[in-house]
Amino acid sequence: MGIQDRFCPKCGRPTKEDGVCVHCRLAGTPWFSCEPRVRCIHCPSCGALKQVNTWTDTDRERSSHAQDLARSAVHFHPDLKKPYLDIKINDLSTNRSRAIITVEGMLYHEPVRGTCEVEIAWQKEQCDRCNRISGNYYEGMVQVRAQERIPSPYEVQIVAAIACEIEESLQTGGERLSFISDVNEIRDGLDIVVGSQHIGLLIARRITAELGGRYTTHPKLIGEKNGRQLFRITYSIRLPKYQKRDVIRFKKRYGEIIQVEPRHVRVLDLSDGAIRAVKEGEIEKIVGNARNAEDAMVAFFSGTTIGVIDPATWATRECMAGSGLDVRAGHHVRILRDGDQLVVLR
Ligand SMILES: [Zn+2]
Ligand SMILES: [Zn+2]
Repeated sequence: MGIQDRFCPKCGRPTKEDGVCVHCRLAGTPWFSCEPRVRCIHCPSCGALKQVNTWTDTDRERSSHAQDLARSAVHFHPDLKKPYLDIKINDLSTNRSRAIITVEGMLYHEPVRGTCEVEIAWQKEQCDRCNRISGNYYEGMVQVRAQERIPSPYEVQIVAAIACEIEESLQTGGERLSFISDVNEIRDGLDIVVGSQHIGLLIARRITAELGGRYTTHPKLIGEKNGRQLFRITYSIRLPKYQKRDVIRFKKRYGEIIQVEPRHVRVLDLSDGAIRAVKEGEIEKIVGNARNAEDAMVAFFSGTTIGVIDPATWATRECMAGSGLDVRAGHHVRILRDGDQLVVLR
């Protein structure tokens, strides 16, 4: 017997190493384990998934999620090298799927292979957000009103777009409770019901940044939870009396508003194209808003007088032409009406 000849104490086969042979070592090593059952809780209304008490939104298919769940049920021996899983999912019912898993790898330089089955239980539970929405729970209200007028359709559209955009970005960022549960258009403005104070604040800030005006906050105690006082906050927005692109009459001139400041407006003077500051007290009236201007064709242009074809009557009307206006017969201009007068915009 040579010095190289050693025998496994367990099975008696010749072996190159001390102690039990590789076959006996493999046989005695549970190299992988498999949980028999995993569960997945999802919200039937919005599809969000619950993982350890935390809800997250997902747009993944159930089948791709099943693969992950099955994978999470398998645990390897730390010595296993190059583990490889092949997972087949059979849907047994709407509540149950079975994963058939083949596990392969290298253990102590020997290939190993095994199989196991995992049952996936699909459970439904209403998520935190849907729960709040269906229970009419909300933390804030953004009230959009305007000073001495009602918000214009343009403003209402901008407000709605801003609210949606902020909700979208917060939801994407994982702030699930920053939702908008209702938008009500009422006679004198818009009420936006929001799930969190954070989204309410962001909406109020953005609206006033884009449309001018200001907001005030009004907290109201609505109860107590776990020793903490719960407030509902109303963000009361007051849009300014004047809007951007309003055309105003002041000191026998017309101007289109380009900026609304607290006590004055900046206008583009339609008579000479200059930018002027006009105090609120100097404003005689709002003629209209340039967004609602009509299109009219130029019949003639003499430098100081412009003839436009009134689209309502097809009659040619003479109007004051602002200096520096560069138009010719056949061109189109935009007009607003101040009583009988046509106001040509620049
Ligand atoms: Zn052996
Ligand atoms: Zn939900």
